[in-house]
Amino acid sequence: MGGHNIFPMGRPSSSVKVLPEPEVLYLPLHSGRFTFSELAVREGERVSGGDLLAKDPDNYAVPLLAPRTGTVRLKSAEKHIVLEDVAELEEHAHVGADEMPHIVREMGASGIKRYKLLALGAWQFFYDAYTGALPDPLGKPQAVVVSTVSLEPYLARGDAQLQEKLLNFTRGLEHLQSLLEYEPIYLIMPHVKSEFATQVREQIRGYAWAKLTEIPLKYPYDNFNILARALGLKRNNGPIWAVRTEGVLAVDRALTSTKPCTSRIITVGGPGVDSPAHVKVVTGYPIKKILDTYVSVSAVRSINGGLFTGEPLGAEDLGVDAECRGLTVVPELEGREFLGFVRPGSDRRSYSGCFLSSLRDRFSERSTTAMRGEDRACVACNFCEEVCPAGIMPYLLHKYLYRELIEEAEEARVDLCVRCGLCSFVCPSKIELRREFVEAQELIKKEKEDAQQQVAEEKVE
Ligand code: SF4
Ligand code: SF4
Repeated sequence: MGGHNIFPMGRPSSSVKVLPEPEVLYLPLHSGRFTFSELAVREGERVSGGDLLAKDPDNYAVPLLAPRTGTVRLKSAEKHIVLEDVAELEEHAHVGADEMPHIVREMGASGIKRYKLLALGAWQFFYDAYTGALPDPLGKPQAVVVSTVSLEPYLARGDAQLQEKLLNFTRGLEHLQSLLEYEPIYLIMPHVKSEFATQVREQIRGYAWAKLTEIPLKYPYDNFNILARALGLKRNNGPIWAVRTEGVLAVDRALTSTKPCTSRIITVGGPGVDSPAHVKVVTGYPIKKILDTYVSVSAVRSINGGLFTGEPLGAEDLGVDAECRGLTVVPELEGREFLGFVRPGSDRRSYSGCFLSSLRDRFSERSTTAMRGEDRACVACNFCEEVCPAGIMPYLLHKYLYRELIEEAEEARVDLCVRCGLCSFVCPSKIELRREFVEAQELIKKEKEDAQQQVAEEKVE
């Protein structure tokens, strides 16, 4: 299995900064997994913090909640709900009491808790470990994986999010356990013997259901799919819920205080940031305001997410979305380096080990958007296969997908790709391998859904 020890410049410190209250919020109607297409508000309506703004009908009606009091504007920014005249007044919880009797009948107390998690915005922090999708909140998992580890450079770290919140975290774990029968909770730690792990262990002493598990501190061993496989949890034994530190804290907030979960700790990191940090923001917080505070260089590329798995932010992305874990800012390399090919490269690194830096000890490197190499066809170096933690052949998949041979790509198991982005990172030809595989997976999924729907329709006829 692959794994990569990456040590770049611009990693955020563990202290958490609170940003000034915004006057306007831009709540994106799309994020990685969600499309909040079912609007619940009208133009000009005044809403309070915690009110329902919209739902995603294809994801168990997961809600987009108003993080603050404000006036709704639906047309002032495309693909966003804008809240103007924002104020931080008392928030309230929208838990739709009318739906409760039906859930109590079917699932009892655990059903109410699950419904609260969904309605208060805590459920969006959950993933199906194998598919990455939102799991069914009323489903029965075979196990829960809770990860406090974040290995992708520049994304929010569990230890930073846990500062002074250890009690909330253990309470959140207890709530999680109360949703289960006897299924285990695997608690993923950076070092089982670290001070952090000792503190957690002290708190959960006597909880036989929580299994502390250590993982190698190499990217991408924190990937949920890889974790599930490493724990020996088989996909066909039922869903595996996976959640990170912030999700457990959200569970505590929803179930202990019955409060909406609309704020999160994200990172502002990367070599383009003046002082990389963790910051606490609400959904919809203006991205420009964050970047103006932390970035002074003008030629940069901003990414929603981490260096390997994030997506570049465009001018149309105005606010922090409902799933954001960090903003990564990388300087644009403008123009070519003069006689760059004769530089021995003691300050730059490449997976190929072709620079002098391969003789140095591990060092902190300043990345730019100009990754090693240049745009060109695959040179069959095989680096992508060497680093791939899924054991597939990225270059072969690329060959098939380049020729639109989707069935061949399916046979070569593009479905096993865990979207870690390591192949794109090491590729000296700068081929966007990860993006190709994500698109192929989405296409195959859609084709299968369409085929199933067609069969269902034919049966009805
Ligand atoms: S093919 Fe997928 S799993 Fe393998 S390195 Fe690339 S992104 Fe990661
Ligand atoms: S790393 Fe890039 S150039 Fe090398 S084999 Fe893979 S796709 Fe081809």
